[in-house]
Amino acid sequence: MVYLDNAATTPVHPGVLKAMLPYLDKQYGNPSGIYEFAEKSKAAIDEVRKIIARSINAEPEEIYFTSGGTESDNWALIGMAETLKDRGRHIITTSIEHHAVINTCEYLKQRGYNITYLDVNSDGIINLNQLQEAIRKDTILISIMFANNEVGSIQPVKKIGEIAHKNNICFHTDAVQAYLHTGIDVRKMNIDMMSASAHKFRGAKGCGFLYIRNGIKPAVFMHGGKQESGIRAGTENVHGIVGMGEAVKIALENMRGNMIYVRNMRNYLLYRIEHEIPYVVLNGSRHMRLPGNLNVSFLGIEGQSLLVMLDMDGICTSSGSACTAGLGGGSHVLKALGADGDRLKGALRMTLDAQNTMEEMDYVVCRLKENVAALRDNI
Ligand code: PLP
Repeated sequence: MVYLDNAATTPVHPGVLKAMLPYLDKQYGNPSGIYEFAEKSKAAIDEVRKIIARSINAEPEEIYFTSGGTESDNWALIGMAETLKDRGRHIITTSIEHHAVINTCEYLKQRGYNITYLDVNSDGIINLNQLQEAIRKDTILISIMFANNEVGSIQPVKKIGEIAHKNNICFHTDAVQAYLHTGIDVRKMNIDMMSASAHKFRGAKGCGFLYIRNGIKPAVFMHGGKQESGIRAGTENVHGIVGMGEAVKIALENMRGNMIYVRNMRNYLLYRIEHEIPYVVLNGSRHMRLPGNLNVSFLGIEGQSLLVMLDMDGICTSSGSACTAGLGGGSHVLKALGADGDRLKGALRMTLDAQNTMEEMDYVVCRLKENVAALRDNI
């Protein structure tokens, strides 16, 4: 199998699995317990808080464990909307967010909040002047993703944060695709809240975190016990959190090297596709994109049909984000980039990771050439 759907999820790293196993087996204490056995679990998750905090230049008490990206996004948006409802009810986001943000905004809209969805250019990047112009007296939150899950476009996060802070507005970023795939420093980049998810960087599914800068106070999201400083109740996912910490350590060991390796491999794949297959359009930016992301449209064919043929060749790809696969109607992200007709229909997303090889890329190009030609011949 050639796995090119790493933006959907990644396999748990063997080192991560090894770190997790004792916490499912012998070391099963509840971190809230006050005897030594339970305190070992508490110590283990507090160590992960430190590891994650160091990785983004935050403080350990600013890291809150959650069940993943979706919960972190929901908490950031709904929590801040609730806290600041008397100050204002206007939120700014973009038209290319993940549905974890878009559908949360729609939920808030039904409850009386006003949402501005910023447009993006054909590279999938927002216009900072438009952001500035969209700010109103009652704007309480700006939520703009760090990097897009479909086309990998990376936003000018530092400048967005600068604009937010100049206007005394809280800035949340969904960094689910970006964290550990590109460098992030929450202090230098003016980020107040940041969502991340372990299964996107070789941790386990159902585990993530929300960074909340000291002083920012989203309303309690999960009501119950006193876990996570009393603002996110529920017995901690100890094995998931320990695994996430190990995944962070492993990713940091060779992050730069992996980024270069993955980017070169992606560029090689793109070069061969563009030179050996006619009528191909690259979706998104050539430069301002995540190293592992490639999204191309093969004009004149259905991306879905190509995906099925590649699947028969043992190649896993996607025609959009995993969460919208199968919904039909075309990707809201590609539409926002200006794609329509053939370009919208023929899109294929391939997301690479450091485990992929050049030999795999050669095989993928070979299968793409044949399958695209076969589908075009059928028309
Ligand atoms: N945000 C982005 C940008 C994503 O890509 C995803 C998952 O694909 C999510 C949020 C949701 O994360 P999770 O699967 O951890 O709920």
